[in-house]
Amino acid sequence: MPLLRRASQREEQAGVFNTLRVQWSIAPQTAPRPWLNCSRCRGPRGFRSSGKIRVNANGRRIDAWLIYRCTACDGTWNRPVVERLEVAALDRQFLLSLQANEPDLVRSLAFDVAALKRWTGHVQEFDDVSVARRALSESSGPVQVLEIECRVPRPIGLRADRLLASELQVSRSCIRSLEKAARLRTVSPGSGLRRSLRDGMRLIIDASFLPEGSVERAAGTGCAL
Ligand SMILES: [Zn+2]
Repeated sequence: MPLLRRASQREEQAGVFNTLRVQWSIAPQTAPRPWLNCSRCRGPRGFRSSGKIRVNANGRRIDAWLIYRCTACDGTWNRPVVERLEVAALDRQFLLSLQANEPDLVRSLAFDVAALKRWTGHVQEFDDVSVARRALSESSGPVQVLEIECRVPRPIGLRADRLLASELQVSRSCIRSLEKAARLRTVSPGSGLRRSLRDGMRLIIDASFLPEGSVERAAGTGCAL
């Protein structure tokens, strides 16, 4: 496939230069788990979101909680979402979403690490992600530079070097050597390979230093050279 053809030595010497730009949309799979003292089985435990919201209207005031379950005994923790708010002060659509247990709302609450840290200093984050790949620019020439633009709509704790190693199926030491040899760099303020992925982060890699098949994996084509 011409799009992903690797540059030959002659082409490299001739200065033929091509960048393959791809976009990775990265979504976390497992919601972060707050660690709290379980009132039932007594002890610090990880809690997982049950996906259920409970709403309680008392007169003109309203409370809503996202229900969490202890991973050891299934005991509950009610995480406050709305506390003693005047019904009139609440956005109507938001109230309907709470009452309907709307999946998008539940998901955005469950993945809001910053909000969870209000309740505990220990929030366990997970590295499993799904990555949807899309080519942003096509080229008929050989690929010399691979540029990956990361879309990260929800904050995740996964580091850029770990994502690259798993998605390109190369070792972490390979990633480190590429970085050391200035064959891999990140672009965007405050970002780095050992930092958590940020929305808009770009990873730029010298494709000729990647093992066979890695460029295809990055583009999601999986085709042979
Ligand atoms: Zn428990």
